[in-house]
Amino acid sequence: MRKTVTRRQFLGTTLAAGPSLRSATAQGSPSGKPILLSKPEKPALLSGKPIRTDPFPSWPISGEPEERSLANVLHSGKWNRNVGQYVNAFEKTYAEMMGAKYCLATANGTSALLTSLSALGIGPGDEVILPPYTFVATVNVVLLLHALPVFVDTDPETFQIDARQIEAAISERSAAIMPVHLGGSVADLDAILPVAVKHRLPVVEDACQSHLAEWSNRRVGTFGATGCYSFQASKNLNSGEGGAILTDNEELVERCFTFHNNSRRRKGAAQGLSYSMPGANLRLTEFQAALLMAQMTRLEEQSRVRERNAQYLTSMLREIPGVLPARMYEGCTRNAYHLYMLRYKKEYFSGLSRATFLKAMAAEGVPAQGGYSPLNKEPFIKETLHSRGYSAIYSKERITRWEECNRCPQNEQLCEEAVWFTQTMFLGTRRDMEQIAEAVRKIQAHAQDLTRL
Ligand SMILES: *Cc1c(COP(=O)(O)O)cnc(C)c1O
Repeated sequence: MRKTVTRRQFLGTTLAAGPSLRSATAQGSPSGKPILLSKPEKPALLSGKPIRTDPFPSWPISGEPEERSLANVLHSGKWNRNVGQYVNAFEKTYAEMMGAKYCLATANGTSALLTSLSALGIGPGDEVILPPYTFVATVNVVLLLHALPVFVDTDPETFQIDARQIEAAISERSAAIMPVHLGGSVADLDAILPVAVKHRLPVVEDACQSHLAEWSNRRVGTFGATGCYSFQASKNLNSGEGGAILTDNEELVERCFTFHNNSRRRKGAAQGLSYSMPGANLRLTEFQAALLMAQMTRLEEQSRVRERNAQYLTSMLREIPGVLPARMYEGCTRNAYHLYMLRYKKEYFSGLSRATFLKAMAAEGVPAQGGYSPLNKEPFIKETLHSRGYSAIYSKERITRWEECNRCPQNEQLCEEAVWFTQTMFLGTRRDMEQIAEAVRKIQAHAQDLTRL
């Protein structure tokens, strides 16, 4: 006999035979009339039956189109963009799909950001404004260029940069604003763009999590000087690793090309000096582009499924006190739901810690994560600002001032309350969504007991 079957059967019999809450409550009501069920069955973390045992949809998703295009590249022997046609084709298709004039494919999202900032001439002495609630790559690229990251606190309701606080963070050293469209939702571009225009600052959109997300019915990544995307394995569009820069600025895309091509301009470009700026090799391979061409044919439909499921989940979670799904700004007309983010208020769960809540969810068969920790407080950032290189550029007073201003209290609270579900969980059925909500309700009903763990 298989072990799993035995265990399930065992749980089944104990639940049926034992005084389950359902029958005990009904039988135990003084009037003899069944009263309303007050508590769902025991949480799995307290040896109850899990809400689900089936896994959520697996990722990545591939098939014949991927096999065909990868085999094409393989057999062509043209594995590099300088000789093949897939990277060119991808750039053209992605630019069209997103509504941008130009697209440059890069090795990954980090190099899309690094290339953008480099092409914009950002470097030592400059300040770059960015949110603390993001993946570490957003700040890494600033540090690699020996610029100063200036963190603007998070709007806890939306999980996005609090755009109302950006202007106060601008100084005469500011060189760029780098908003992140976090989780597939969109930062408040109506507030960010006018401030950028007023202070003549380029905006580099980190759209690494927001494929097909829209602001006022226009794709994100097309509002700033550049918009940067990632196709890393976890992202909604996936080639294992990969990235892209969108821009409408021809001169800028050529600078980006040169930077990502080890200082060498595009073939056929008017040649002056052969090397015009320092660069690196950050090119996408033909294999990745071939994979992306196939994956792109699935993106729209997958995105619709995620959106439909996420909206359904929100409608259910709204009814549960103490879980607050991330709000979207009015301008956000489409959310890519790379992450489904909510705030967990433990006061509504008998003080049950988020850590135990997450464990209890996992036990119910619903994996959830706690998300980012406060990036602006990461010791490596402070260490970097005190490094030999930074000390050669910035005065002690400047760094001290940075430390004094580096306060994001809203973000710190958010980092303690956040709960994430990842995008792959939204590629399934409405039933999956119902089970997520059911798991939350069950844990809430038994929160008191769970606090004793
Ligand atoms: C994934 C990600 C990046 C970096 O992309 P890679 O392709 O992993 O280099 C940058 N910013 C954000 C917000 C991301 O989620």
